Amino acid sequence: MSYFSLRQITKTYDSQTALQEFTLELEKGEMIAIVGESGSGKSTLLRIAAGLTAQTSGEVWLGDQKILNPSQKLVPGYDEIKLIHQDYQLFPAVTVEENIARPLLQFDVNYREQRIQRLLDQLGLNAYKERLPRQLSGGQQQKVAIAQALAVEPEVLLLDEPFSHLDAIQKRKLILELKELLQEMGTTVIFVTHDLDDALRLTDSVVILQKGKVVQKGNSKDLCEHPKSRYVARLFSSINLIPDRFNSYIRPSDIRLRTKGEILGHVIDSRFLVHYNSLLVRLKNGGEIWEVDDPVRKYKIGDRVYLHFDEEKVLVLKS
Ligand code: ADP
Ligand code: MG
Repeated sequence: MSYFSLRQITKTYDSQTALQEFTLELEKGEMIAIVGESGSGKSTLLRIAAGLTAQTSGEVWLGDQKILNPSQKLVPGYDEIKLIHQDYQLFPAVTVEENIARPLLQFDVNYREQRIQRLLDQLGLNAYKERLPRQLSGGQQQKVAIAQALAVEPEVLLLDEPFSHLDAIQKRKLILELKELLQEMGTTVIFVTHDLDDALRLTDSVVILQKGKVVQKGNSKDLCEHPKSRYVARLFSSINLIPDRFNSYIRPSDIRLRTKGEILGHVIDSRFLVHYNSLLVRLKNGGEIWEVDDPVRKYKIGDRVYLHFDEEKVLVLKS
């Protein structure tokens, strides 16, 4: 039996289904990411997992404890299961240290002080412990929120796009630090995000959610090479429809640019990106516009190019 399990969770709001028979089993210390577009039911799922929203049907279990929802429990939520989201509120008028101490006020003073010191060390917040939240950067504030949630040593941490308002560099750094810390603590983690790239920085184990349903599960390589639908394929990159072939697509990074060959096109746009130039190529046959990566930055707007790809890279996607 697994450690944390969400069994056949369905949630309907009025007549709208936000989640449909969602099932997920996690072992202790396992980290998993749930990726889906906005409105796919991610926040609803985590609130149900934390016992903060009542499901329409289905059960949540932590070990042999059934998680009760707000209609079954006087004080909603559990110390064992902590949910952090983007707008997590710190106490604005007290210091970092006092913010982290808040959930520990009922604990023995020695334990409390030890615990606070350890969290300040683990999250690299020692230098800021006397500051107020508004005197910190977004990334630092988010770390304090995480320290606060971890103060009571939860078994399960649920992350609801908590890094969305950080810049890319802060975000990557925080995800890596957090990954190390959570592994060390043996915390079981569900991380939900619309951004597959963020998800893969934390864990290689991904569940794809679409309109409240699991559409695919797997590791990054599986999902990228064998997506079951256009929705899953597009989480990795854009895809180009191959003319005169049904449901067949090719990724911009799987196309090679040649000076002779079969598929002729003209470069109509070129953008200089960090790792390659991203070209828009209008195909001569059919006029389709493809996105093509030019890693050697060789081609200019107006150039004639021939496009080539290996048959094994073609994705056949019926939906
Ligand atoms: P996500 O976090 O993936 O963006 P949500 O769980 O917030 O998705 O929402 C899933 C669906 O449920 C959406 O269509 C949303 O409009 C609906 N929904 C979420 N919360 C409520 C609510 N409190 N009342 C009615 N509908 C809601
Ligand atoms: Mg959400």
